[in-house]
Amino acid sequence: MKKLDFLYEGKAKKIYKTSDPKVYAVEYKDDATAFNGQKKGTIDDKGIVNNRVSAKMFKILEEKGIETHLIELVDDRNMLVKAVEIVQVEVIVRNVATGSLTKRLGITEGTVLDPPVLEFCYKSDEYGDPVINDYHIRAMKLADEEELRTMTEMTFKINDILRETFTKVNLNLIDFKIEFGRFDGRIILADEISPDTCRLWEADTNEKMDKDRFRKNLGNVKAAYQEVLKRVESL
Ligand code: 5GP
Repeated sequence: MKKLDFLYEGKAKKIYKTSDPKVYAVEYKDDATAFNGQKKGTIDDKGIVNNRVSAKMFKILEEKGIETHLIELVDDRNMLVKAVEIVQVEVIVRNVATGSLTKRLGITEGTVLDPPVLEFCYKSDEYGDPVINDYHIRAMKLADEEELRTMTEMTFKINDILRETFTKVNLNLIDFKIEFGRFDGRIILADEISPDTCRLWEADTNEKMDKDRFRKNLGNVKAAYQEVLKRVESL
């Protein structure tokens, strides 16, 4: 299927229409941003890693009963997806305290969160993706009651599946961000699952194997992304 009109360019991906109105083509870029776009750079071959890791994770989730937007992986940087309308809410799950949570609430870095913490953020560059709750979501008409319930149930299932999957390749899933979309009246998992959107720590050493290497200038960013791809593709 051919890419037709360019539809939208995000920070990490470009979206194109195709000849089928129900199908979009997604192209993953090497561009990297952090801190709401204040830090900009590129990570060599990041687009390849994120496209392939996302496709693999979406396939595993589908096998376990989670509907995702993935139709098929086309090549190293491109996938075909269902043409969803994105819900303007980022859903975050935290299994271990780090990042903005430790700054916001003073919880010690590395504290295991049991049960895991679910957060919603309003997807807005203008307002810096602020944390919101279910009342904001309903009042702002970002999603209705049933959609919220579905997203919440799916998110905890997704956390269980992703944790189990990453554990098999010696990576601890510390936290992650996902996005949902509306398709034919259903809520399905959209966007990506990658080292850009998940914090993954080496199980034995707690070494960071994700975008925090870029955010915090830790070096060896490309190598960490490549290592995640290698392990995920061994599954
Ligand atoms: P934090 O709120 O601690 O910065 O992020 C929590 C988790 O959500 C991390 O895994 C982080 O990568 C992911 N996350 C939150 N917001 C964004 C975002 O706007 N872009 C990306 N790529 N990941 C995000």
